[in-house]
Amino acid sequence: MSDCLFCGIVDGSVPSTKVADTGSSYAFRDLNPVAPVHVLVIPRAHVASLNDLANAEVVAHMHALAVQVAKAEGIDQRGFRTVINTNDDGGQTVFHLHMHVLGGRRMSWPPG
Ligand code: 5GP
Ligand code: ZN
Repeated sequence: MSDCLFCGIVDGSVPSTKVADTGSSYAFRDLNPVAPVHVLVIPRAHVASLNDLANAEVVAHMHALAVQVAKAEGIDQRGFRTVINTNDDGGQTVFHLHMHVLGGRRMSWPPG
């Protein structure tokens, strides 16, 4: 999608710090991290939000990459959090599906 920020990251026209890559998903560091480890995992193909997901396997692949990232970043054993924000109440600001992988500090619950 031509006017989508994260499609630009996938095609390289918007710079990003790559963490990991698979055929279907791409992981890169969040520009404004809220934890010592804050990585975003996105599908290469544009999906606006969870509400627009046609194929649930897309999220399965994203989650598999998130675990791979957590292991590579050394936060898998202490623990980490994966989050997908959806629409306004969920706090979504970029409308290309993305999963936050957060770790390196203790997370609070309930989330804000
Ligand atoms: P959301 O609020 O939609 O769940 O998350 C969007 C995330 O994208 C935010 O954490 C924000 O910091 C991050 N972000 C926004 N623009 C950019 C960008 O250009 N590059 C990177 N790496 N992250 C971005
Ligand atoms: Zn997109």
